[in-house]
Amino acid sequence: MADHSNGSSNIPPIRFTKLFINGHFVDSISGKTMETMDPRTGEVIVRVSDADSEDVDLAVKAARHAFDHGPWPRFSGSERGRMMMKLADMIEENVEEIAALDAINGGKLFSLCKLVDMPVAANTLRYYAGAADKVHGTVLKLSKGLQGYTLREPIGVVGCIIPWNFPSIMFFTKAAPALAAGCTLVIKPAEHSPLSALFFAHLSKLAGIPDGVINVVNGFGDTAGAAISSHMGIDKVTFTGSTEVGRKIMMAAAASNLKPVTLELGGKSPLLIFDDADVDEASDIAFNGVFFNKGEICIAGSRVYVQEGIYDKIVNKLVEKANAWVVGDPLIPGLIKDPRGYYIQPTIFADVEDDMIIAKEEIFGPVMSLMKFKTMEEAIKRANSTVYGLAAGVITKNLNVANTVSRSVRAGIVWINCYTKLENDCPYGGYKMSGFGRDSGLDSLYQFLQIKSVVTPIHDSPWH
Ligand code: NAD
Repeated sequence: MADHSNGSSNIPPIRFTKLFINGHFVDSISGKTMETMDPRTGEVIVRVSDADSEDVDLAVKAARHAFDHGPWPRFSGSERGRMMMKLADMIEENVEEIAALDAINGGKLFSLCKLVDMPVAANTLRYYAGAADKVHGTVLKLSKGLQGYTLREPIGVVGCIIPWNFPSIMFFTKAAPALAAGCTLVIKPAEHSPLSALFFAHLSKLAGIPDGVINVVNGFGDTAGAAISSHMGIDKVTFTGSTEVGRKIMMAAAASNLKPVTLELGGKSPLLIFDDADVDEASDIAFNGVFFNKGEICIAGSRVYVQEGIYDKIVNKLVEKANAWVVGDPLIPGLIKDPRGYYIQPTIFADVEDDMIIAKEEIFGPVMSLMKFKTMEEAIKRANSTVYGLAAGVITKNLNVANTVSRSVRAGIVWINCYTKLENDCPYGGYKMSGFGRDSGLDSLYQFLQIKSVVTPIHDSPWH
C-alpha cells in the first residue's frame, strides 16, 4: 500500500486510489487518473483512477457474476447481517482515518465527521444488518384447489450514484439496504469525494464480503455515471444528487433496460415559525436547519417564513448568530481560513419575496431567505409554492397549527419544533421534483427486493 499523500500538513495517508473491481484495486483500463481536491486549500490531494464505460462494464460483470453465481444472495439473511455488523465495527476501529478523509475531501468539519458521519454510517449498516433476516413473504388466499405464497427476492445488480456532501453516510444509505437484500453493487462516489468510498471497499474485503459484491468506480458523471444508468446489466439505480442529473438518469434508465430508479433529489424546504414560538429556540432551529454542514444538505430549511409578530426579533437573532459563526479550517478549529480555499460566510437575506430566485432555486450552500407571513393558511400556501417537496418544518406551541401544517405541506418529511433530526428508522425522500422512492427505514430495504408470487394446485387434499 503506497502512501499517496502530497505531504501537506493534516492530510492523512491516502492508501487507496484505484478502482475496486471484483475484490481488487485496479487501474482504469485507459490508465486515466483524475484529481481529487482539498477544498480547504484548493490543492490536489492525490490523483485517483478515473473510470469510464469500459471500467464500469468490468465492474458490472463482476457484480453480475457475484449475483448470478456467488454466495452473497444465497447466504441466509443472518449470514449477510453478520458480515455487515463486522464492517460496521471496522468503520469504528478506523474512525479517525476515515473521518479525516471526508474532512479533507469534502471540506467538512473533522469533529462532525467523527461524531456524526462515522457513527451514522456504522449504525446504518447495523440497522439493515438486523433487518436482513426479517424479510418475509406472505401466504396468499387463493381459490379452492390452489395454494400460493410470495417471496421477496433481491432485485439484482444495483448501481449507486452518490453526491459529495456526506460521502460516508450516502455510501451506506445506498449500500446497506441493498446488501441486506442480497444485491450486488457498483458504486460511483462523487468525483469530488472518492477517498472514503475506496476505504470502505478495502474494509468490506476484510469483513469477509465476497469479491464482486461491492465494486467502486471513481469517475465523472458524464462518463462513469452515465455508463451505470444506461447499462443493460444493472437491474436498478439508486441516486442521490441534483434534480437535473436525476432527470438524465431516469431518461437513460428508460432508454436502456427500463431499470427502476430511486431518485433523492434537490430541495428548497420551508420552515414556518409562528408568533407563539420561543425566539431563542426557534432561531437555533432555523440557523442549524440551514447552516448545518455549511448548508450543503438537501433538506436545508432555506426558506424561513416567520409570522409578523416575531419577525424582527428572529431576524436580529439570526444575524447575531451568523456574525458569531467561525469560518475556518475544518480540521483545525480556530485556525484561520486558507486564502486559497473555498470559503463563504453564512449569508442571510431578509424581506425576501417569493418570486425572487433566492427563494425558488436550491443554492446548496450557507444561504437563508427570510420571509414574513400573516396567517397559517397563507404560510401553508406559500410553503407549497415550489417545485420541490423534500422536507419542511414548523415551530409553534399550538398543536392544531402543528398538525394542520404537517398534514398540509407536501414534503417527504416534516419536523415539528426541531429540524434535520433523522434516524435509521425514519424513511425520507421527495414529493414532486425532489424525487421518488425512500432512503432509510424498511421502505428503503423493500426497494431492493422484488416480489414473486408462487402458485400451485393442491392435489389429493382432503380440503379440495
Ligand atoms: P450532482 O447531481 O451534480 O451529482 C451527484 C452524482 O451524480 C455524482 O456522483 C455525479 O458524478 C453524478 N452524475 C453527474 N452527472 C451524471 C450523469 N449524467 N449521469 C449519471 N450520473 C451523473 O449533485 P451534487 O452536486 O453531487 O450534490 C448536490 C445535489 O444533491 C443537491 O441538489 C442536493 O439537494 C442533492 N442531494 C439530495 C439528497 C436527498 O436525499 N434528496 C441528499 C443529498 C444531496
